[in-house]
Amino acid sequence: MRYFDHAATTPPYDEVTRTIAEVMALHYGNPSSLHRLGEESGKLLRRAREVCAGALGVLPGEIVFTSGATESNNMAIKGAALQYVNRGKHLITTVTEHPSVYECCRQLEQWGWEVTFLPVNKEGKVSVEQVDEAIRKDTVLVSVMHVNNETGSVQPVAEIGSLLKEKYPRVLFHVDGVQGFGKIELPIKESGIDLYSLSAHKLRGPKGIGLLYVRDGVTLQPLLAGGGQEEGRRPGTENIPYAVGMSKAIRLAKEGAPERAVHLRLLKDKLIRGIATLPELELNSALEETHGAPHIVHFSYPGMKSEAFLHMLEEEGFLVSTRSACSSKRAEPSRILLAMGKSPEAAAAGIRISLGEEHTEKDIADLLEALNKCVRRVRNLKGER
Ligand code: PMP
Repeated sequence: MRYFDHAATTPPYDEVTRTIAEVMALHYGNPSSLHRLGEESGKLLRRAREVCAGALGVLPGEIVFTSGATESNNMAIKGAALQYVNRGKHLITTVTEHPSVYECCRQLEQWGWEVTFLPVNKEGKVSVEQVDEAIRKDTVLVSVMHVNNETGSVQPVAEIGSLLKEKYPRVLFHVDGVQGFGKIELPIKESGIDLYSLSAHKLRGPKGIGLLYVRDGVTLQPLLAGGGQEEGRRPGTENIPYAVGMSKAIRLAKEGAPERAVHLRLLKDKLIRGIATLPELELNSALEETHGAPHIVHFSYPGMKSEAFLHMLEEEGFLVSTRSACSSKRAEPSRILLAMGKSPEAAAAGIRISLGEEHTEKDIADLLEALNKCVRRVRNLKGER
């Protein structure tokens, strides 16, 4: 089986799994304990935080460890909404955010906040002007993802950040960086970003851990009540093995980023060119090599149930997905594709192929052959030639 679902999750690095097992077995002390074992764990946690901060180009004190990006996104948005309620109760986001942002904003609407969900163009993008026009006196926070998890569309987050810092310095800017980190360069400090979410398992680290960068000077209302861990920002006994594992994965993701991006773009380009030769398949990812994230290719096969096509590809030995993993069990057409102006038929027939650094040109050639074979099978089933 060849795994082409890296936007859902990634195979962990051997180095990461080895380290996690070692830390879990040997360094089981609670970092809040005052004895030697506790101190050792505390040291590991501090080191993990420093490594993550270094890779992000931020300060260690600006990193809060969480259970993943779902929590980071909720912490950023709800935490800011609650903390800065005296500034107003208006938030801005986009219609194509991950559910952990989109549904979080919907929940805040039910709780009395007003949210502007910006529409996207046919490439899945919002513009800086749209953000500018949507800002109000009572706007507290703007949340825009870096890279869309379904289609790979890249948002102009650095430009939005500059606008906010120059024109609206009181408005906080949150970026869900899960699909962009290690693929597309985004200097956090220079991009006017106040809050930035990551999940370790998208970067070949463990599942169930992530982080939120909280710019020095920004305060969030904690979502959980409990002990004083993470400087009171996120109570609960720290997950030392996973924090160390995540720090390794994030460091590796950052170190190899330029070569990874070149390699992935080359593979994506080949894949896109191959898919474009099959008239039945409608590409939903940007065609131009330089547009869109380097690791996500998304297409629709109108008239074909995407789940059925996914299983045909699986029979050929390739694992892909129909859309984002968090929404794949929903029956309705993709909210993201509908927002990009696709027909309901195309929006219900999406296939996402997401690449990893371990893939080779041969993998892409074999995948294209499998795609061709599956399309021919469908043609035959339909009685076409
Ligand atoms: N944001 C984006 C863009 C994602 O792709 C994901 C993972 N599907 C998340 C947030 C949530 O991450 P997690 O499931 O690890 O909490």
